[in-house]
Amino acid sequence: MPTYPVATVDLAALKHNLKRVKQLAPNSKVMSVIKANGYGHGSLQVAQALADSDAFAVARLNEGIQLRQAGVEHDIVVLEGIHSIEQLQQAAELKLSPVIHHPSQLDYLKAAELTTPLAFCWLMIESGMHRLGFSAQASQQAFEQLSQSHNITGPVGLMSHFANADTKGDSRNQKQLETVYNVAQQLGNPQLNLANSAAVLSLQQSHQHWVRPGLMLYGISPFDDVSATELGLQAVMTLTAQIISIEQVKQGDQVGYGGDWQAPKSMRVGTVNIGYGDGYNRQLSNLGQVLVQGQKVDVLGRVSMDMICIDLSSLNEIEVGQEVILWGDKELTVEQVAKQAKTIAYEMVCQVSPRVKRNYING
Ligand SMILES: *Cc1c(COP(=O)(O)O)cnc(C)c1O
Repeated sequence: MPTYPVATVDLAALKHNLKRVKQLAPNSKVMSVIKANGYGHGSLQVAQALADSDAFAVARLNEGIQLRQAGVEHDIVVLEGIHSIEQLQQAAELKLSPVIHHPSQLDYLKAAELTTPLAFCWLMIESGMHRLGFSAQASQQAFEQLSQSHNITGPVGLMSHFANADTKGDSRNQKQLETVYNVAQQLGNPQLNLANSAAVLSLQQSHQHWVRPGLMLYGISPFDDVSATELGLQAVMTLTAQIISIEQVKQGDQVGYGGDWQAPKSMRVGTVNIGYGDGYNRQLSNLGQVLVQGQKVDVLGRVSMDMICIDLSSLNEIEVGQEVILWGDKELTVEQVAKQAKTIAYEMVCQVSPRVKRNYING
């Protein structure tokens, strides 16, 4: 018997989704993005399942350090880079590849005397998102500085990031591509690395030397109007909990904090051991649905920290101990639940807290 709540992570599905990336971008190396604890799935287990990746990307230095210390030997790119000389030294010693996106990081490189020079590093080009990176004008000087740095022995690649790749046919994607192409040409066509999941799936021109998907590896669609199944992806995480109490409420009884839900009739209400303290989004109060024995039933009242209440009036034979699926079934995908919560599936999976045990299957 599992201890609920549990996030079951299907390692075979992860591997399948990586194959799907390679099928879509057969001429590109794959940098698998496993930041934020592998989008909530467990970064080390994800890294092991995705060992056929050409490199991994994380957001922060400490995420890279953790993976190295756990024995991951792939190239690991740190997307936010380093923020001091000490961090640069630490990155270099552990053979982590920092992204250089800001002049301050060039200064650290200039000032440092690294015992192990960087074997690979990435220059971030700002091409339309205005979040991180050097402008097209500033990129030439930054690139030269990196190429000539005594602290870098390996190649310098160019990275950029799309702001609107999840909107197919958006002209802003073409604009960003043109900006990057122009910069690349000026710099003698270094290795390009542009495509997030949405671009891997819908913007073939962005498949360059590298692609850099995250979300799709976890079997989640980045598009509002196309399901993961339609994209040939397999869901990786199934989040389940169990009914720990069943109560017969009377007409007019109020359920949960604030009494936001009131029973319209005498009926059975189940209490399930998952709440916002586990990452079950509180926006699902009085809105969400869960699956019980294959049937969708409503969340009643507010989501508490550790529990939710659900409507069992349409189900007869349910007993305490019954498993409940919060998401990850074909009938209730994480994308659908995210929509109910007025957020995105990225946030749903990232929010699954450490209190929820991860159970790895099909390894
Ligand atoms: C998170 C991230 C990705 C992966 O994006 P997905 O939409 O999850 O595929 C790629 N590049 C950068 C810079 C990121 O921050």
